[in-house]
Amino acid sequence: MEQLFNRLASYQDEMIEIRRYLHQNPELSFEEVKTPAYIATYHEKLGLDVRTKVGGRGVVATLKGGKPGKTVALRADFDALPIHEETELPFKSQVAGVMHACGHDGHTATLLVLAKVLTEMKDELEGNVVFIHQHAEELAPGGALPMIEDGCLDGVDVIYGTHLWATMPTGTIGYRTGPVMAAADSFSIKVQGKGGHGAQPHKTKDSIVIGAQLVSNLQQIVSRRVNPLDAAVVSVGAFEAKNAFNVIADTAKLTGTVRTFKEDVRGAIEQEIDRVAKGTCLAADATYEYVYKRGYPTVVNHKEDTDFVVEVARNVPGVLELEEIEAQMGGEDYAYYLQNVPGTFFFTGAEDALWDETYPHHHPKFKINEDALLVAANVLGAATLTYLKQNAEERLKVSK
Ligand code: MN
Repeated sequence: MEQLFNRLASYQDEMIEIRRYLHQNPELSFEEVKTPAYIATYHEKLGLDVRTKVGGRGVVATLKGGKPGKTVALRADFDALPIHEETELPFKSQVAGVMHACGHDGHTATLLVLAKVLTEMKDELEGNVVFIHQHAEELAPGGALPMIEDGCLDGVDVIYGTHLWATMPTGTIGYRTGPVMAAADSFSIKVQGKGGHGAQPHKTKDSIVIGAQLVSNLQQIVSRRVNPLDAAVVSVGAFEAKNAFNVIADTAKLTGTVRTFKEDVRGAIEQEIDRVAKGTCLAADATYEYVYKRGYPTVVNHKEDTDFVVEVARNVPGVLELEEIEAQMGGEDYAYYLQNVPGTFFFTGAEDALWDETYPHHHPKFKINEDALLVAANVLGAATLTYLKQNAEERLKVSK
């Protein structure tokens, strides 16, 4: 294990260099071209088996160890966001309106250098490692599901992944067993009223008034329909209805998001929104169209694998604290991997104590402390080696 940590530390500069190159060259979800090519070239130079265009734009590299054993998958996403960077960093985005504002550049750099180090140690490796570089995490339907359908988990026994977390101190590893990130859905309701003269409201069906009631009635789903012990969010993020100052609008369109952790709560809210829309529109003699789109399911960490990574992380250089975090209402298509194989998804703190201000993920001034990359690589690498070694020892015991 010392060898792993020493080697990773010796490549820290390269890890940061790769991350900065990717940061300067961000690509949007489902539009990634240069990034997967860069990743594939890096793995090919290491001599790994590389598959490109997996499930669309994903890259999967496989390292076969010198000894037989189990197969560990490690996942990093590589897409950026439609945000115009507002930092003053010397390596800021060179693409107007596109930015790595969630740390996926760091995830990719971490995994590439870890692949390099594990390749150097491959003669001693007691099994295989599959490096899953996933496109399009930020935009549902996402890259994970098509990559799985294209076989990226074939032969995989366990999967580990991490997210750099800019609002948690560097040195802290955040973990949680069970649901850790929410199911993230979207909905839209189009209210069809009847337009007319602003001075003769009685001859119209005012879609703005109906829409406003709808926004307010929707708030009662979480407060009066969902069990208070179950977490849920119903947020209306857009309300479009417009006409001249003296004209009553014909239609109003509401769009929003629903976040839940339990499948039955998710299904109930989908139905409740319809019921509220139906009732509100019936009262006003208007009609509506309702569309509910399911996004990523809940990320559910497996207990045994989460406990395992926490135990391993205790003895990893750079890890100062292990914190059991609260579940996040954000979504992640890592959920799909955990529906297929056991594993866990943890958070690697990337906040710098010297910053004047910390900006959240998806903010134009978002940044990460690059020291966190080495911490993430150390934990992922240590979990991989320990898992393979323990399983090899168990097999030995059984055969004796
Ligand atoms: Mn992200």
